Amino acid sequence: AHLDRIAAVDGPVHAFLHIDAEGALETARAVDADRAAGVELPRLAGVPIGIKDVLVTKGLPTTAGSRILEGWIPPYDATVTRRVREARMPILGKTNMDEFAMGSSTEHSGYGPTRNPWDLDRIPGGSGGGSAAALAAFEAPLTIGSDTGGSIRQPASVTATVGVKPTYGGVSRFGAIALASSLDQLGPCGRTVLDTALLHEVMGGHDEMDATSLDEPVPAVVDAALEGARQDLTGVKIGVVRELSGADGGYQAGVTQRFEESLSRLREMGAAIVEVSCPSFEYALAAYYVILPSEASSNLAKFDSVRFGKRVEKSTIEKTMLATRAEGFGDEVKRRIILGTYALSAGYYDAYYGSAQKVRTLVQRDFDAAFAQCDVLVSPTTPTTPFKIGERIDDPLAMYLNDIATIPANLAGIPGMSLPSGVAPEDGLPVGFQILAPAHEDARLYRIGAALE
Ligand code: GLN
Repeated sequence: AHLDRIAAVDGPVHAFLHIDAEGALETARAVDADRAAGVELPRLAGVPIGIKDVLVTKGLPTTAGSRILEGWIPPYDATVTRRVREARMPILGKTNMDEFAMGSSTEHSGYGPTRNPWDLDRIPGGSGGGSAAALAAFEAPLTIGSDTGGSIRQPASVTATVGVKPTYGGVSRFGAIALASSLDQLGPCGRTVLDTALLHEVMGGHDEMDATSLDEPVPAVVDAALEGARQDLTGVKIGVVRELSGADGGYQAGVTQRFEESLSRLREMGAAIVEVSCPSFEYALAAYYVILPSEASSNLAKFDSVRFGKRVEKSTIEKTMLATRAEGFGDEVKRRIILGTYALSAGYYDAYYGSAQKVRTLVQRDFDAAFAQCDVLVSPTTPTTPFKIGERIDDPLAMYLNDIATIPANLAGIPGMSLPSGVAPEDGLPVGFQILAPAHEDARLYRIGAALE
């Protein structure tokens, strides 16, 4: 049924870069046969899934949305890909994304944009626009995303789906093509909080192949979602972050209205709402756009025409590398490589990279102080509903401003969720509600999210 749905709607939506109908059906048939034979199966066996093209998949093309990896077929599986296969989930295909996960609209994909199923003239968010659009268009019941500065939560917000960025280290990144290694985290995407929790448990857990992987059990997120569904939040303290709530203006009216309504509902369920302030968040976006390009410029050095993918043959190896990178990378990737190399260069390192790392520490301290006063923090996920395709593509700063509310969590390594919060009355488009919890407390997101759903 999902393959039929993909065939019917994915032309205009373009959520998928590659569809593996044969592989998905083969897994599904094997699950059916085992079920008929009475074999005990994992909980999500037979539930189809779409995987963001940032994860390597053995035998299936993997591009990370870049032309530089066109035609590359990985010889191995990412740990998360392997866990999905072990869970017996049919892999429908690879979902579209901004090139190397740089962007907030999926317009920076080297293979053409994904469109928002709510309005095909609008962006589905980014970088994981394909994973979110596939859910919103009912092409897949579950997908996987990656979140470096909001790429799971912001697409979830603008497509009325659920997306979770787990605690840094909670999900193995072995086999995930790195953007900024100190910020990247893989996470589950679904249409309901419980669905997302079920996938979180499949993905999570220690992995010796990833040196940053936490050596602790997966948080009990499914139990937390079931508990939340009882809608009793007596004794729970929820903090509204002043700097992320649009209190100082700049947020769309309907976004603020839906946010206030969600707060009222939380109060009705017994939660206490307090206001907290995180003054250093004013500088979080600026710090992120120094740290991310710095790490990305280093991570992307490996795309050199020798090891993977595309190769534009010239008279010397140096010219070959230059020509391959010039042709293979898109404008946004080049912009960030240049920014990152500059920020890391001798003479500027302390002024830019060093200052950004100090801001990062201040952001972490602000979170610590805020969580000393409450169990979770909340805000709208994005300042506006989805904008029109083409509207911000030539204005990188306007594009970056989308991430104002999602970026602090990545700088601190804490978990965050976005879930649907109705539509804005003025345009009928989705609004997202963001929940943030202290590191390792991912389960709190699911409890509050399921209560609100
Ligand atoms: N939109 C942000 C950026 O462009 C976030 C990207 C991400 O989370 N992968 O960097």
